[in-house]
Amino acid sequence: MSRIYDRVALIGLGLIAGSMAHAMRRADLAGEIVGTARSENTRRIAREIGLCDRVTETAAEAVEGADLVVLCVPIGAMDPVAREIAPHLKPGATVTDVGSVKRAVIDAVAPHLPDTVHFIPAHPLAGTEHSGPRSGFAELFDNRFTVLSPDETTDPDALARLRALWEGMGANVEEMEPDRHDLVLAVTSHAPHLIAYTMVGVADDLRRVTDSEVIRYSAAGFRDFTRIAASDPTMWRDVFLNNKDATLEILGRFTEELFALQRAIRTGDGDHLHDYFTRTRAIRRGIIEAGQDTDAPDFGRGAPKP
Ligand code: NAP
Repeated sequence: MSRIYDRVALIGLGLIAGSMAHAMRRADLAGEIVGTARSENTRRIAREIGLCDRVTETAAEAVEGADLVVLCVPIGAMDPVAREIAPHLKPGATVTDVGSVKRAVIDAVAPHLPDTVHFIPAHPLAGTEHSGPRSGFAELFDNRFTVLSPDETTDPDALARLRALWEGMGANVEEMEPDRHDLVLAVTSHAPHLIAYTMVGVADDLRRVTDSEVIRYSAAGFRDFTRIAASDPTMWRDVFLNNKDATLEILGRFTEELFALQRAIRTGDGDHLHDYFTRTRAIRRGIIEAGQDTDAPDFGRGAPKP
């Protein structure tokens, strides 16, 4: 794979930015990778582990001369970061992001950017519950989808280059309109996270009654919930605050279905339960056939990444 950008600036140096740095190096996609983070501690760790070729003190410095700028901060930080970097962007540069919500990020970032740059929102549908500069790894995006959300004004060459970068990092690239993205992700990621958070919270309350039994006897189902519920609190707070309508819509539907299942249990309607679980089992099979998970008993996750 040949070089796609001479200089890439990563703003924020956590799981996603770190994984991008490793994946870009794996395929030699960038001439120079420059990075910055809010805290001195993260910048120090990034320098220590050689995460980027150069770590700057500020985002304004990081974007100087960059052909591609990637905003890898929580959604609530996109607005101030865009405001800070805007006057320092190189004309002709592409600005993109990795935020888990698209409409709110577009509204936060686009108004600050000069007409001389290309803004192409993006979201890699890949992650773990780990965060910080040490958590990234080159394989994170392999065979996962990355969604790009260009609009009718997007420059085709800038779009083709960003697509090539994500493909070079191992991803399958799809284009999706921002509102559609936010609704799809509310179903596939945001509502499930909220349900996991709730279930772990309920178990925690119960634990006070039953002492350590919940932890001691937790089987795979509950352990998977605890893994999801260990995800970064800032990131997920921002996801829900910024994908409010779609998440509330899906949670409304979820609640209705939950009541229907609750009723089936109360009335002993085994047919309802069996039909429902048969339908959901087929969905799982579809995910495996699409190559988006494995049918290994531990979900193919193996040992957690460092
Ligand atoms: P992370 O590991 O927690 O890293 C976040 C980075 O943003 C850190 O370098 C942090 O700096 C910086 N930051 C935090 N608050 C900031 C602020 N107010 N101003 C400036 N910088 C700030 O996060 P991540 O998992 O890489 O997530 C980054 C983005 O990717 C988020 O928008 C998230 O929605 C999206 N995303 C995440 C996942 C996932 O599974 N984690 C998947 C896809 C997309 P310090 O370290 O100095 O605090």
